[in-house]
Amino acid sequence: SVGSVAGSVSGTPSSAVSLTSSSLPGQTPELTALFECPVCFDYVLPPILQCQAGHLVCNLCRQKLSCCPTCRGPLTPSIRNLAMEKVASTLPFPCKYSSAGCLLNLHHSEKPDHEEVCEFRPYTCPCPGATCKWHGSLEAVMPHLMHVHKSITTLQGEDIVFLATDINLPGAVDWVMMQSCFNHHFMLVLEKQEKYEGHQQFFAVVLLIGTRKQAENFAYRLELNGNRRRLTWEATPRSIHDGVAVAIMNSDCLVFDTTIAHLFADNGNLGINVTISMC
Ligand SMILES: [Zn+2]
Ligand SMILES: [Zn+2]
Ligand SMILES: [Zn+2]
Ligand SMILES: [Zn+2]
Repeated sequence: SVGSVAGSVSGTPSSAVSLTSSSLPGQTPELTALFECPVCFDYVLPPILQCQAGHLVCNLCRQKLSCCPTCRGPLTPSIRNLAMEKVASTLPFPCKYSSAGCLLNLHHSEKPDHEEVCEFRPYTCPCPGATCKWHGSLEAVMPHLMHVHKSITTLQGEDIVFLATDINLPGAVDWVMMQSCFNHHFMLVLEKQEKYEGHQQFFAVVLLIGTRKQAENFAYRLELNGNRRRLTWEATPRSIHDGVAVAIMNSDCLVFDTTIAHLFADNGNLGINVTISMC
């Protein structure tokens, strides 16, 4: 079901995030080229498996293949190539987004974590839920939202009220709106979901349509206010590069249960005061 501010049914949370970056000296392009997968041109990284004739293919491609792409010979039983694994462990490999501008070279064990947070990774659609598969550059995010997610309301100003109507709608529901101030666009998300069986909770968070670094220049405050009660949450906005799912998974947002929601709701509608400031 869908809240009437706008939005979509929520989907599964994606990846966890950890920030790792390091660069190893001494690039050796000739050596790293030996690790190129003949199918996808990504790198063949440990565990490295070879066909019976000794050809390599990356583990992702291997799962989709019935024979060796080089010699058509059998891929099973798999033969591990420990020597190549040892060589791989001594080499720096370029980040997957090197063609987009990332200059980092990393040990293969650090590559996946870095690529998850790499600032050159394409942005995905910030709308909660997994329904929209769009991805592109940061500059293309706002045009995408304006053309494809026209139903999202935008309010101007640093101090606005985010009104979520019909908070009693059953199931997982998202309420989404945009706030524009300080020459930036922020996405406000209220999500209702059952993180624990039989226990519905609300999660409210503010995302900057911008990088993690830009987000550090701002602070946001969410406030439920009414019936002689007040509940406040203050934090740094999330970058849309991290997304809503991670914030909710870590409860790094305003979290409250349905009982609390009803203390503040008026006729099934919940008003959240949102204030954004520069810091
Ligand atoms: Zn491959
Ligand atoms: Zn082969
Ligand atoms: Zn990178
Ligand atoms: Zn989208």
